[in-house]
Amino acid sequence: MPYQCRQQSFQPSANAPVYLDANATTPVLPQIAAVVSHAMQVCFGNPSSAHITGVQAKHTLEQARQRARQLVGAGEGEILFTSGATEGIQTAIVSALIAAKPKSHAKSLLLYGATEHKAVPNTLKHWNQVLGINAEVKAIPVDEQGLLDFAFLAAHCKDALMVCTMAVNNETGVIQDLAKVEKLLRAENPDCAWMVDCVQALGKQSLKLSESTIDYAPFSGHKLYAPKGIGMLYIRHGAPYTPFIAGGGQEGGMRSGTENLPGIAGFSELCRLLLDKTDSPFQAVETLYEYREQLRDAIVDTFGQVTFHHDFARSVPTTLNFSVDNLTSKEVIDLFDAAGIRVSGGSACSSGSNRSFVLDAMGRSNWQSENAIRMSFGPADSPAQIATACARIKALKPILAQNCLIVSDSQYPEKEACAIGLTQFRHQGACSWLYVSENRDAVVIDPIVELVPRIERLIHKQQLQVKAVLDTHQHQDRVSGRAILCAALQLEHDVPHFAAMLGWPVSEDELQLGDAHLQVCKTPGHSAESVSYLLKQQGQVQICFCGDLVLPHGLGSTIKDSGDAYAMASSLLQLNHLLRDGTVMCSAHDYQQCFAITWKIQKDQLPLLGALCEGSLSVEEFASQNADASVIEAHQNELDLCGFLDCALAANYDELSNDQALAWLNQHNATLIDTREAYEHCAQCTPCEILSQAKSQLNIPLSRMADAINRGIIQPQGAYLLLCRTGNRSRQAALTLKNLGFTQVCNLKGGVALN
Ligand code: PLP
Repeated sequence: MPYQCRQQSFQPSANAPVYLDANATTPVLPQIAAVVSHAMQVCFGNPSSAHITGVQAKHTLEQARQRARQLVGAGEGEILFTSGATEGIQTAIVSALIAAKPKSHAKSLLLYGATEHKAVPNTLKHWNQVLGINAEVKAIPVDEQGLLDFAFLAAHCKDALMVCTMAVNNETGVIQDLAKVEKLLRAENPDCAWMVDCVQALGKQSLKLSESTIDYAPFSGHKLYAPKGIGMLYIRHGAPYTPFIAGGGQEGGMRSGTENLPGIAGFSELCRLLLDKTDSPFQAVETLYEYREQLRDAIVDTFGQVTFHHDFARSVPTTLNFSVDNLTSKEVIDLFDAAGIRVSGGSACSSGSNRSFVLDAMGRSNWQSENAIRMSFGPADSPAQIATACARIKALKPILAQNCLIVSDSQYPEKEACAIGLTQFRHQGACSWLYVSENRDAVVIDPIVELVPRIERLIHKQQLQVKAVLDTHQHQDRVSGRAILCAALQLEHDVPHFAAMLGWPVSEDELQLGDAHLQVCKTPGHSAESVSYLLKQQGQVQICFCGDLVLPHGLGSTIKDSGDAYAMASSLLQLNHLLRDGTVMCSAHDYQQCFAITWKIQKDQLPLLGALCEGSLSVEEFASQNADASVIEAHQNELDLCGFLDCALAANYDELSNDQALAWLNQHNATLIDTREAYEHCAQCTPCEILSQAKSQLNIPLSRMADAINRGIIQPQGAYLLLCRTGNRSRQAALTLKNLGFTQVCNLKGGVALN
């Protein structure tokens, strides 16, 4: 059975999610859904049939065209129903290029705005090649506000066969100055084909297409409350046209295939609602501006340091694009998701990429481009929906403060989530570690530059006494964040000996951290200066920060700089002598997303390490085999990793549906582990049956998995059901626990999202 989504409501109930991703797609309005349903069940005819049912369908089709024509001011132009904007873009570009081909010359250009939807440049490139036109496909740059560079357009448009621009940008809501584009273009090149993508303008701007020289304008129904699979293309009277889909001659031969009448009827109803001001479900534009102000205030009030990436005076009111200083888009989206607010990062339409080409084109920083959030609402959203969204956003403020994600003025630091114990911080496969004793003595190991603000905030907020900021070696793949963290914490100034190599205070044999001691131990191999730090409690090594000597499920590489496989063998034997089986190993990289591993599991799973420690492999044999493996790995691995992965993770745990999981919890008296970060766990507002039913629950984010193992919070003989937002992080945790020898581990399939 398909997953039953919770109903999207235009008047939200207490628990319904508030959907703020309207630029990606919208729900279908009830009145439109009713018309679509009628066209599927009652007025279901084929407009080409001669009988009355067909005649009725034909009437629906032509009425839709009439309304659409009126809505966009099509005048003498054609309105053609398509499957969506992407098809409209294809049709326009193919038509324009076929007509332009005879005129093309060595300097011919196909111009498009640098912030166009990817459908535009990709279609231009595709048909330019397929049709053998071989023009240069060139982006028109934009300024920092996302507005087209008119000097560039003026300089290049005389050689253009086609110019593609957009009315409103889908990521930022920025409105282009089309009148200026037209003036420049027509002055230099009166016959050039001009397409304007109007997808995000529909319902947000009034359009009078026939009063302009725009040749083609694609639209899409699902961006404005009509169903997916319906769109339209405006074609200026007299503009070149080649049918993109040939066949039975429907749409006057311009687009064959039996018409999508339910979709067209829905689109028609949308046009009617937009045209009829007396019966409109849409808010007045002033109200939309008020919504944007309310949302902006809530965002700024909650997150503090926020950058908006568009000029509000030059963008439609329904889109807010921003990044939060020092919070990744993933963190913000996960947090919003848990709080029942749906937003997207950058552009949901170009999934796969984790940075925004639109913000890149606008010259925003790397951080801003990688971590932008797009919040977009639709003109039919009610004041209650926006008020609920704002209330939910504001309710996140104390959660952010408790989790040290924002600088807050909280008077009660003791109430904040505590970093006591071991925390892993990850950035693209690399790891930093923070260890904090019960009395708040702290040590930071292998700080990563990108994570320094986060770690610094945590240290300040929790009033930690930092005893040292250490590196395990001079990282070959990145600059250490040690100097900037020390400077931010003013440690260099107060404790001069911290400037010593790798940060170890030269005068100390060991560092006291509450009731634990940290010792340094030379462990060359990955590089000559590599050390490991051993955290001892009651004479036993609890934790080993081993840098890249050994990685979860792999050994460190020995082929870089001062790497030495013989030295590595000796270092590993030395560690084997010092460590317990249960010592938790904390490496400088965790490419496999393992999160927690012990020395015993390392030995069991790495054949070379196991044989070396057991004595069945000599140092020489280890050195030669390890060097061979490193070289093979380096050849295979273009990413140039700091270690090679030597074994695959076993995946023998069960994925359970909601009902199976509930039964399993009871049967095994199991504990539910929420593996989301603490702030998501706290922000959870939509009901989740399993969370409300499980008697025994723990919140152990992946970043605290090593801590839970170290402190014995979870035990290999226990029974655990794992859960997260979508089932991915908890699957990773299930793998980790299985690999650590836990026997009764299951994952909730689809996480909170599908249960
Ligand atoms: N153009 C813009 C500006 C868009 O936002 C989108 C959809 O994200 C498209 C084109 C593609 O529209 P469709 O999904 O109807 O093919």
